[in-house]
Amino acid sequence: MVHVGIGYDVHQLVAGRRLILGGVEIPHPKGLDGHSDADALMHAICDAVLGALGEEDIGHFFPNTDPRWKDAPSRVFLAEAAAQTARRGGHLVNVDATVIAQAPKIYPYIAAMKKNIAAALGVSVGQIGVKATTNELMGFIGREEGIAAMAVACVDLP
Ligand code: MG
Repeated sequence: MVHVGIGYDVHQLVAGRRLILGGVEIPHPKGLDGHSDADALMHAICDAVLGALGEEDIGHFFPNTDPRWKDAPSRVFLAEAAAQTARRGGHLVNVDATVIAQAPKIYPYIAAMKKNIAAALGVSVGQIGVKATTNELMGFIGREEGIAAMAVACVDLP
């Protein structure tokens, strides 16, 4: 049976941090703040996959109080979500995600992001959708105070 999961994440943009989205380091004066590499896109996708499994969220498996995950590359979290899927004899059908960022422009990096996400989840690039939009200058995203991402995942479970 096919199960759908949803994920959402947001991190604050601050000076002195690298900006990493979908495992791609994007040149920008600010980066996302967080305990791990703060890759909001991979975090949203991780929650979508865990949600499809009916599992608890990323913060349950990888608490931000655990020094093991300090500055951790978020592909580790996706790999764990994929491992949990496999342990149940399931397989990931597809993932679709949207990054919401006023700046920088995300489009040039989307192909590389898809490749990283597919590799971390152990699926093909054709199973991964990544899109991006601005927030039309409105709210905290429009003021470039943070970047958000949302995702859905479809998992086929026995
Ligand atoms: Mg996060």
